[in-house]
Amino acid sequence: MSALDLSAAAFLAEPLVQRVLGLLSEDGEEARVVGGAVRNHLMGLPDQGDIDIATTALPETIVKRAGAAGLKTVPTGIDHGTITIIGYHRVVEVTTLRVDVETDGRRAVVRFGRDWEADATRRDFTMNALSVDADGRLYDFVGGLGDIEARRVRFIGSAERRIEEDRLRVLRFFRFHAAFGEGAPDAEGLGAAIRARQDLTELSAERIGLEMRKLVVARRAADTIALMQESGILPLVAAGVADLAAFHRFVELFGKEGVPALRFAVIFAMVGEDIDRIARRFRLSGKERDRMVAALAAVPAARVGGPDEDRVQLYRIGREAFQDGLLYAAAKGFLAPEEARTRCDDASNWAIPEFPLSGRDVVEQGIGRGPLVGLVLRDLERWWIAQGFAPDVEALRRRLQMMVAAQQ
Ligand code: ATP
Ligand code: MG
Repeated sequence: MSALDLSAAAFLAEPLVQRVLGLLSEDGEEARVVGGAVRNHLMGLPDQGDIDIATTALPETIVKRAGAAGLKTVPTGIDHGTITIIGYHRVVEVTTLRVDVETDGRRAVVRFGRDWEADATRRDFTMNALSVDADGRLYDFVGGLGDIEARRVRFIGSAERRIEEDRLRVLRFFRFHAAFGEGAPDAEGLGAAIRARQDLTELSAERIGLEMRKLVVARRAADTIALMQESGILPLVAAGVADLAAFHRFVELFGKEGVPALRFAVIFAMVGEDIDRIARRFRLSGKERDRMVAALAAVPAARVGGPDEDRVQLYRIGREAFQDGLLYAAAKGFLAPEEARTRCDDASNWAIPEFPLSGRDVVEQGIGRGPLVGLVLRDLERWWIAQGFAPDVEALRRRLQMMVAAQQ
């Protein structure tokens, strides 16, 4: 057990964390911050947002005490003993201590417990199993501190057994290695992950997608994706091609830029069919899928170039798709990186104008209400674009009047 003092940790100073720990650390109950918040603090990394708290208190006690203190609770996963408590700026997830009683490789069957060590040992990796109480005392039952210092992602207990209990841990192994690992991955973990790879097909698309989204934006995503490919794991997860060189270039050129959907496009998508498959296998949202489609569709525009053309494209397809197209094209080697960079910056700085006329202006000229209105409007818009978006509303109205007069 380590005697490290974390009482100055920023996450402990959060008012909501203080209150919840306070409420659940009296009348025979105990509560501690666990998981990512503790790990990230010890690694000197910024806090990821959600703070997990574990407690001996049963779910109904959590709800009762939080409610009595005027805190809003949501029973997010009441069967698993998880209650979300919502503060002004923060959300904490409070989970009753548990012990696994049986597993079928996909879902653990749990029962509530009061044993902190048992709760630590049922977690996946040593670096995720540390806990801190309200006074800042750190509890390390599995040697997590040493692995945090060494930046080593190591399963708690036998890697093989832990993966048998839950196949998702194969992906979590790569995800945490990508985010926090230094050097080569733990050999025992990697070996066990490779041996279990066929079983990955049993996982739900939703769980795969959640891990893959986090994996592709992690610090060492490019190396780790390459490692997954070499291990024969990526082909089973994605069921298609993976352009490792493009992803490597993307990360090198653009660092932290790029949401998961764009990164998925760079790695996995060359044609529309790839997008459909990845969207299915990772259960992507409609918005994420659309973003991949738009990035690929913007490639021809990205390859043309020139300030005037770029403005027209920006107006037509929007900033996000246009910039995604540039990044994608540069990653694929269709475009020089410096050029992509400059045009991307220019696109950020240009205020996309709004077409100043509407159907009303046309109707007011006595054109009626039929399809002609749209045609006239589109004609005026084309002219306005060809004039470099310069004509103002007055100039456009004059042109509209001329068009109407010419018709009569
Ligand atoms: P992040 O900052 O990415 O949210 P995290 O460590 O909080 O990282 P979560 O996926 O939110 O990761 O899980 C919270 C904690 O729950 C983990 O730190 C780990 O202790 C435990 N955990 C989550 N999923 C599993 C799993 N499949 N098997 C065992 N333990 C798990
Ligand atoms: Mg978390």
